[in-house]
Amino acid sequence: MMNLGKFYINGEWVTPISSNSMRIINPADESEIGTIILANKADVDLAVMAANTAFLSYSRTSKQERLGMLEALLALSKKKLPDLAKVISIEMGAPMTMSLELQADAAIGHLEGYIYALKNQTESEKLSNGDKQLREPVGVCGLITPWNWPINQITLKVLPALAAGCTCVLKPSEFTPLSSVMYSEMIHEAGFPAGVYNMIQGDGPLAGATLSKHPDIAMMSFTGSTRAGSAVSKDSADTIKRVALELGGKSPNIVFADCNLEERIAGSIEECFINTGQSCDAPTRLVVERSCYDEVLEIAKRIGESIKVGDPALEGTHLGPLVSDIQYERVQAMIKKGISEGARLLVGGLGKPDGFDKGFWVRPTIFADAHNKMTIAQQEIFGPVLTIIPFDNEEEAIEIANDTPYGLAAYVQSGDLDRADRVASRLRAGMVHINGGEFNYGSPFGGYKQSGNGREGGVIGIEDFQEIKTVHYPE
Ligand code: NAD
Repeated sequence: MMNLGKFYINGEWVTPISSNSMRIINPADESEIGTIILANKADVDLAVMAANTAFLSYSRTSKQERLGMLEALLALSKKKLPDLAKVISIEMGAPMTMSLELQADAAIGHLEGYIYALKNQTESEKLSNGDKQLREPVGVCGLITPWNWPINQITLKVLPALAAGCTCVLKPSEFTPLSSVMYSEMIHEAGFPAGVYNMIQGDGPLAGATLSKHPDIAMMSFTGSTRAGSAVSKDSADTIKRVALELGGKSPNIVFADCNLEERIAGSIEECFINTGQSCDAPTRLVVERSCYDEVLEIAKRIGESIKVGDPALEGTHLGPLVSDIQYERVQAMIKKGISEGARLLVGGLGKPDGFDKGFWVRPTIFADAHNKMTIAQQEIFGPVLTIIPFDNEEEAIEIANDTPYGLAAYVQSGDLDRADRVASRLRAGMVHINGGEFNYGSPFGGYKQSGNGREGGVIGIEDFQEIKTVHYPE
């Protein structure tokens, strides 16, 4: 990939000032894919300067002009879909089928959602008191994204910023640079003016923190761990930036005995393990009504043992590896913790699956007989590890579900839709999925409590990147 060692600044691929390099590793076999340069402060300053200059004219473009560029990007996203899927699969290990149908597809889905939202948004509104309310772009935005759904996260930030008339500097995860280079090439080809969109590679403590502290950046939009989100907030405080955060989760999945157990347990395990469990909104706590607990364990064991891991380059429903050796060690440490705290291993466990010695492979793992105070019920694991916890009545299920510092997603399985709605209304989470109801592009995505603030996707996602101006007239 020609531009892997470069940054996209002011409409060009430029050689970084920094010479600090990082090797990029294929997680499936630990082979080296290439090398990136980690930006230093001077690199960040150049990118911010380009965005700052471009803001003067881009912020004054019409909605129609911006829609034209977004439509061009949509056509390119459709054309490049298989290429995007391939690089995502190589850099973070998503198997080809899901990389194409879910990971890369987000570039199309979110863009269609934002185009629809922008078309229908009112930029100027007459209020009933005679005043006028205008929506304007917030300014230069710093965008920081993680590696787990690389294009999904990039598009959820870059697209609403560009739609709103903001200019931006993107710092994608240093673990997944390939997809960000390809996406930057697509934005270039779509015809956005020089400096409107800039992309640097870099790590969190230097490049990320420099963006958060930068006096010429008006807003930080961050997706990643709660730890780093807190650092971004603190670093942004002195310059009073707007900060939007999409952080971690430990989402509960309440199973009532009256649901279709066979179907809903299969669906629940699939949702927990997809992307090798590396999803912020994964339903990682299966909270099960005691009257069907034994039956659920029997189904979970059978389905859990049937899940296969395999080569991400191949199509199919198997799971890929974890993204990195760091992530592998974290997941192993959490499985060890679950065992030492007394949860019962129902499926999987420590170590690599047979025949997968090279690469960051883990065994899909299910713990039973856990309680909600255990570490594996409270902390994000970010691997294919499910924790099953019994409950005795609806009130207790709600209490367990809400009892973590997080509030991203929640899931309810019940044959009684009134009950499912009643429980959903009591859950402190940004999104509730009932009986397998899936996320739809264009809907708001985001969490309560320490899962973040702000929402991405659709109209509300664009509003996050806008200021409101009120104009008052004489009577
Ligand atoms: P991470 O926090 O380690 O890194 C995320 C990004 O932040 C990377 O680009 C990294 O370089 C940067 N970063 C790290 N420290 C920083 C700092 N001090 N200042 C500025 N930037 C910094 O997270 P990760 O391991 O890449 O991703 C996994 C985490 O992301 C999980 O906790 C997951 O739940 C969360 N996530 C949340 C959502 C959501 O929408 N809520 C979506 C995907 C992932």
